[in-house]
Amino acid sequence: MTFSRAACLFCLISLLIMLETGAGQPVPFSQPKSPRIANYDIDVRLDAKARLLHGRQVLRWRNTAGHAVEDLHFHLYLNGFRNNQSTFMRESGGRHRGEKLDEKGWGYIDIDSLSNAAGEELLPLTAFIQPDDGNTNDKTVLHLPLPKPLSPGETITLYFAFTAKLPEPPMARTGIKEEFVMAGQWFPKIGVYENGAWNCHQFHAHSEFYADFGVYHVNITVPKGHIVGATGLCCATADNPDSTVTHRYHAEDVHDFAWTASPDFLVLNGKSQDVEIRALLQKDHAGIGPRFLRAAEIAVAWFQDRYGDYPYPNLTVVDPRRGAGGAGGMEYPTLITAWGAYGIPKGFRSLEMVIMHEFGHNYWYHLVASNEFEEAWLDEGINTFSEMQILSDTYGEAGSMVDLCGIRISDSQLLRMGYIAEPGLDPVLQPAWKYYSGSNYSSMSYNKPGLMLLTLQNMVGRETMNRILRTWLERWRFKHPRSADFIAVVNEVSGENFDWFFDQVLNSTAVLDYSVSEISSEEVEQNRGFDFFPADSTAAVSATATLTTDTVAAGGLESDTTGRRNKAGADSGKEVLDDKEKEEKKLYHSSVKVRRLGEFIFPVELQLIFSDGDTLIEKWDGRSRWKEFSVTRASRLVSAAIDPKNKILLDVQLTNNSRTLERSSRGKAKLAARILFWTQFFMDMPKFFNLFTIFSPHL
Ligand SMILES: [Zn+2]
Repeated sequence: MTFSRAACLFCLISLLIMLETGAGQPVPFSQPKSPRIANYDIDVRLDAKARLLHGRQVLRWRNTAGHAVEDLHFHLYLNGFRNNQSTFMRESGGRHRGEKLDEKGWGYIDIDSLSNAAGEELLPLTAFIQPDDGNTNDKTVLHLPLPKPLSPGETITLYFAFTAKLPEPPMARTGIKEEFVMAGQWFPKIGVYENGAWNCHQFHAHSEFYADFGVYHVNITVPKGHIVGATGLCCATADNPDSTVTHRYHAEDVHDFAWTASPDFLVLNGKSQDVEIRALLQKDHAGIGPRFLRAAEIAVAWFQDRYGDYPYPNLTVVDPRRGAGGAGGMEYPTLITAWGAYGIPKGFRSLEMVIMHEFGHNYWYHLVASNEFEEAWLDEGINTFSEMQILSDTYGEAGSMVDLCGIRISDSQLLRMGYIAEPGLDPVLQPAWKYYSGSNYSSMSYNKPGLMLLTLQNMVGRETMNRILRTWLERWRFKHPRSADFIAVVNEVSGENFDWFFDQVLNSTAVLDYSVSEISSEEVEQNRGFDFFPADSTAAVSATATLTTDTVAAGGLESDTTGRRNKAGADSGKEVLDDKEKEEKKLYHSSVKVRRLGEFIFPVELQLIFSDGDTLIEKWDGRSRWKEFSVTRASRLVSAAIDPKNKILLDVQLTNNSRTLERSSRGKAKLAARILFWTQFFMDMPKFFNLFTIFSPHL
């Protein structure tokens, strides 16, 4: 078969299918919201028996560079499942999220023909390349040198015919199980050309995706009786003579396209604000259907209210069947996959968390289209922050993840648990396949950046944080921003320079840990011996720090320079003191030593609580390795605490943040100290329960 004949045959077949399915009717385009660089028309037919996809694809790619482009790079993700020597398989050991491929479950994608508009067959020109690791057994990136360079602004049209086999059971979000199909990363997809080079990474065990926006017309042909869900909107269906049905989908301004099919879906429809929601549930999960829909409705409304417009008319939520867990917990434009199970108690919010998290990616990745290969935190970290916020707003912070039988655990506690288990092994900013382990990738891409942003919110306030993320979305939707762009938005909106903060969190392995190491409070002795300055007999002592009167907080009381409570006009001139008055005349010298145990430098607050209920707050820039604070006043020190309001979620050890002295004359002060200690203890608590590591998957 000659190249031109193959191309003509392809065009003819496509035309016949389009006529047959009614797909030839034009779909009206709306005004472009995105640059629409990579545009796809795809016909795909599911051979359910052979577990194969037969595809024909027209790709129109526009050169937006200021110079001619001489070659093209394509992702062929399914080849990650081709054999046990692919980079994906080597890195994952054949396991992903607990799923393991069946021995006959290998997946692949073969390009059967590739031609241009002139009918030239280009397949012989292509070669597999391995830009990341040089593994010649990896066939997930295809290189095509163009016969003729593509000029700036010019669009190339390429015609593909391909055959793909989905892995079984689903692995890394894509695959097939029984009659359930989840097709993700299933078609030949062009990389991103930027800064004079192709950004087209191999498929790795712990990385996701990066792509340009465009318009997709996709005709999905499946056996009659299969229910289909996909990115975009279904415009039409057509019955075919061979007992199949073609579902015609159209999606604009998206950078990926996924679809699912199963004869067993239960369809539930809902709506949130202006967005139609369609849930495709497994029939044995019918009981949790209302929770599915409710979680999606809450997510749509919350994200639109909080961050801005979701510019698509619909959302599809897919519930993978039993044994297809590898397809769960994934985001595609306007289509997300969840995790369902029969009988999940209401107080166990894993179901809601996954739906809310995955919908969040329709903002942080599908609109703000950062590079998930190279800067995973930019979508996963920001999205994890949003996840914590929406769960907290919806269910209350204390039990935002678990609220069962009196046990309450928040999402932020669980994320802290994941982070503090190994906080200093890798920096956040590095390619996704270069982390020490999968769990470290997860911790550095989800947990740490999420906690970083919660800490930032505690510094700038929630209203400013909302404006930061709204600005981030408005400015960078349908674009490809980098970390520096995010930091610039934070600095601009907050009006402060947070470079020092991001530099430590993102680029270093520095661990943040401040502690109260020593605390004492002793009655000041009467001076004995010779030669004292008169003032020393009662004056406040401050060895390395001065506590000022304007830092007094509790009860509206004020201290004089000796720390004695003002009692204007009282008792003056009395020469004989009763026991109570003697007690009030006593002075106590209190001292607190605080330490910086980690390399991360962060300004902290020190709270001192005294036996009379007074509270002093002092600030420390946190730079030196340690610092001593002292004060002399008329009441004993009861407790001292670093970061008393637990604002610094990145502190890896909270139980060393406070110390309490045993003696206390005031119940209130003692109670406050106890509450503080136990709050910090419980924030560290989940690390003792490895059970909860189930909450730290890659979503
Ligand atoms: Zn995610």
